[in-house]
Amino acid sequence: MKKIAIIGAGFGGLSAALDLIKAGNDVTIFEGLDHPGGLASGFKQADWEWSVEKFYHHWFTSDRSMFDLFDELGLCSKVIIRTPKTVMYYKGKFFPFDSIPAAILYPGLGWGINKIRFGLVGVYLRLTNNWKPMEATTVDAWMRKWAGKKVYEEMWEPMLIGKFGERFSHQVNMAWMWARMHARTTSLATYEGGFQAFADDFARILQEKGVKIVYNTKVDTIAAKDGQVQLTIAGKTEIYDQVLVTVSPAQLAGMAPGLRADYLKELLNLQNLGAVVMVVSLKHQLSREGYYWYNLPKKEGYPFLALVEHTNFMDKVHYNNEHIIYCGDYLENGHEYFNLSEEELLQRFMPSFKRINPDFEPDWVNHTWVFKANYAQPVPFLNHSKNIPAIETPIPGLYFASMSQVYPWDRGTNFAVEIARRAAKLMLAR
Ligand SMILES: Cc1cc2nc3c(=O)[nH]c(=O)nc-3n(C[C@H](O)[C@H](O)[C@H](O)COP(=O)(O)OP(=O)(O)OC[C@H]3O[C@@H](n4cnc5c(N)ncnc54)[C@H](O)[C@@H]3O)c2cc1C
Repeated sequence: MKKIAIIGAGFGGLSAALDLIKAGNDVTIFEGLDHPGGLASGFKQADWEWSVEKFYHHWFTSDRSMFDLFDELGLCSKVIIRTPKTVMYYKGKFFPFDSIPAAILYPGLGWGINKIRFGLVGVYLRLTNNWKPMEATTVDAWMRKWAGKKVYEEMWEPMLIGKFGERFSHQVNMAWMWARMHARTTSLATYEGGFQAFADDFARILQEKGVKIVYNTKVDTIAAKDGQVQLTIAGKTEIYDQVLVTVSPAQLAGMAPGLRADYLKELLNLQNLGAVVMVVSLKHQLSREGYYWYNLPKKEGYPFLALVEHTNFMDKVHYNNEHIIYCGDYLENGHEYFNLSEEELLQRFMPSFKRINPDFEPDWVNHTWVFKANYAQPVPFLNHSKNIPAIETPIPGLYFASMSQVYPWDRGTNFAVEIARRAAKLMLAR
């Protein structure tokens, strides 16, 4: 039996713990917050039946690692699948864009060659599995060549700018775009009670199996110690045979300065964006048409990237009949939104609500909550596969599984589960 610590009770840390405890080890998870779930965790008002995520979340029905996990935990009956509507902007209006017929009817590409090129590129990316050569070229170059300037600038460039910002958007590699288009589904899933309810159920099952989860406890430092790993927690040291870290690369570099220089350099060279998300409870439905996800083009003056009306996906009855919307954006750390107050952000965002529903009035707002994360979206540059730090670090017994090592897939809870279980397999093989 090995004595193992996991740093972080996000979906990754919890999943690794499952495999490590099942193999008969002594497993402790240290979590800085007072609840499991990490970036996918949620919050709840006293009069809500269900929680909502701090940052909007759903699963795709193609999220194999997640669905296998539900099955393994006996929780499939709590998974809810729906097909809510996603829309794209064109000349002041929003049009559905989540199925082949909807894409055909979308007016933004006209009816000629552009629509044909858009369709052919979409079908090719959906069918091919040959993503590796695509990482040597940017989305910008690949799409301009194969989909054409009009299609790229109308459809993909605004999404890339929204997701990665002006600085990085033209450097993102095409394998990342392939992965998004290859694997995503229009059917989306969530969990009865929200993602937090799943994290709570998962944590409870792990505790029943013997995993110790220590909340409100931040690990400060990690160092090698005679072939084992030493953690410092609130000034005290503890020794483990193996440790799995699931925090950001920059955090790991700060916690373990004794890592070999080349590995530290790899960690620190990785780039990412943060996220600022405002959750708003409204008295009335915002989208008259019942749309779930609005892709908003910043060049048209929208001050954030996505407006998500959660209660057009899950029934408002679970939230005391309040209508829940998210205003979300990915931003470089240091962007002014990280410093604006909740009220200042609301004043910036509210004019967009009126553009979506002209009847909207400020007195529709019941409450707001703002959530900010510095580490939200890794940036995959050209040939990113060569820049990914290994799961097995140069410190014997120390392993690392983070969003930045998920590739070519876009990060998500499904891939947090997948990479953490891969890490657990490596740990068990030692
Ligand atoms: C805006 C936004 C939208 C998203 N939408 C989706 C979506 O729709 N679907 C989806 O599947 N995924 C989505 N994701 C991604 C998803 O949230 C992540 O991929 C996933 O939660 C990562 O899990 P993780 O376990 O790797 O890391 P995390 O969830 O980041 O977990 C790391 C944990 O470590 C803890 N920790 C940090 N430092 C310490 C320390 N020193 N000591 C102890 N504990 C520490 C943290 O508190 C945290 O709980 C979204 C993310 C964002 C930001």
